[in-house]
Amino acid sequence: MNNNEVLRQIPSVEQLLAELLKDPRVADIHHDVLVILLRMATREVREELLASMNKEIAFQSPETLFRRIAELTSQKREMLLQPSLRKVVNATGVVLHTNLGRAPLSARAQAGVIDIMEGYSTLEYDLAEGGRGERYSHVSKHLEDLTGAEAAIVVNNNAAAIMLTLAGIARGREVIVSRGELVEIGGSFRIPDVIKQSGAIMVEVGTTNKTHLSDYETAITPETAAILKVHTSNFEVIGFTSHPTFAQICGLARERGLVSINDVGSGTLLPLSLSGHRDPTVQECISAGFDLVTFSGDKLLGAGQAGIIVGNKQFIDLLKREPLLRALRIDKLSIAALEGTLIDYLTGRPEELIPSWSMLTLTEAELERTAMDIVDRLAPLRAVGWNVRAIPTISLSGGGSLPAVELRGYGVEIVPGAISAAQLERDLRGSPIPIICLIRDDAVVLDVRCFRKGDEQILYKTLSDFIVGAAE
Ligand SMILES: *Cc1c(COP(=O)(O)O)cnc(C)c1O
Repeated sequence: MNNNEVLRQIPSVEQLLAELLKDPRVADIHHDVLVILLRMATREVREELLASMNKEIAFQSPETLFRRIAELTSQKREMLLQPSLRKVVNATGVVLHTNLGRAPLSARAQAGVIDIMEGYSTLEYDLAEGGRGERYSHVSKHLEDLTGAEAAIVVNNNAAAIMLTLAGIARGREVIVSRGELVEIGGSFRIPDVIKQSGAIMVEVGTTNKTHLSDYETAITPETAAILKVHTSNFEVIGFTSHPTFAQICGLARERGLVSINDVGSGTLLPLSLSGHRDPTVQECISAGFDLVTFSGDKLLGAGQAGIIVGNKQFIDLLKREPLLRALRIDKLSIAALEGTLIDYLTGRPEELIPSWSMLTLTEAELERTAMDIVDRLAPLRAVGWNVRAIPTISLSGGGSLPAVELRGYGVEIVPGAISAAQLERDLRGSPIPIICLIRDDAVVLDVRCFRKGDEQILYKTLSDFIVGAAE
């Protein structure tokens, strides 16, 4: 049989389509899309045939070829319908992992999101008045109660919060900021660029390690609108350093008629120390006298993506009138997540209710127990020559919070038998529910701190599938 004769065994697209339309595996897909997938599958089988002919592999019947094409089409359908934004298991030990979606939501926040997304809501509706309401009203009271601020507004994220604040307060005028605080947060978010984008003019003072109150003072001109403090979220300068206190900055601003602004980044509401470190709370910034304080919703606060601005009512009202607000506004699902999380704080048990806090405060002993349990359950891996043991780890807060804090934790170390650690890491990442882990030396390390309910089962299932797969 020559090449052409072999290729002629492939059924026509019309024949294939007529058969495939009866196949329940692909019945739920749009006809036109099915035709595209089918053509792709047919092309692949054609290429397979041509490749095998060169190796003189035997003739295949039209039925065999049809089954192969149907199988490929069904696989392609599955890949096409698989969402790209997927759940993963975070075995990195980084609690607020920006690439993995930062804070997981509390039960109350999740319930709020589901309730609101299913139908209509009071997003901008005032039930008492029976008319138009304000989007920000759902969270502003809670934020005021929790932080001691007079007023609050929320936008899309903290980058937007800083941009809106500077645009509203200092567009076309000067903002004084310390050279020690001109930070890059990651994903190319740089404070000098945001200031420029807002239309404010940046005036740098001091040096990387030291900025004195007098540096701020001498930089004030009739063009100055504000003094900006920025939390150096992802690094710490240690040694010969000094900065004025919050109260000194706020005092100077008040004396000279300037607005004091503090971007505290992660913005914690809890004065909890982790390994002896803690960030200033938003309440402390407000009581120190800052006019406006901005922070993220999905870092230490533990809600979804949001940028929160709290402070002086007069300035918050000014920001509410800023046209830019429309472009930066927060959506209803993020408000629902934020409101649920803020209510968790109001209950007085946020460390228990908010997942990121409960993960951050897990003790080494608790984590060791979890890791030991997993090691026991993974005994079958040892039977096939893999080494599995519990080891101490250092996990991180992440998400631009508490940069110097190393949390003592526990993990499961796996040295796979027949494959390399790099291969196992790739396989775990490529599994139906991807498991994102670390490689240390020649081992895969699964830090157990960020495991959520059900994640251990996912791990057992994934690894046992590998072993069964390897034995076949
Ligand atoms: C993280 C961070 C931001 C950016 O916040 P997003 O909510 O990610 O936009 C801005 N400033 C500081 C100091 C930060 O730590």
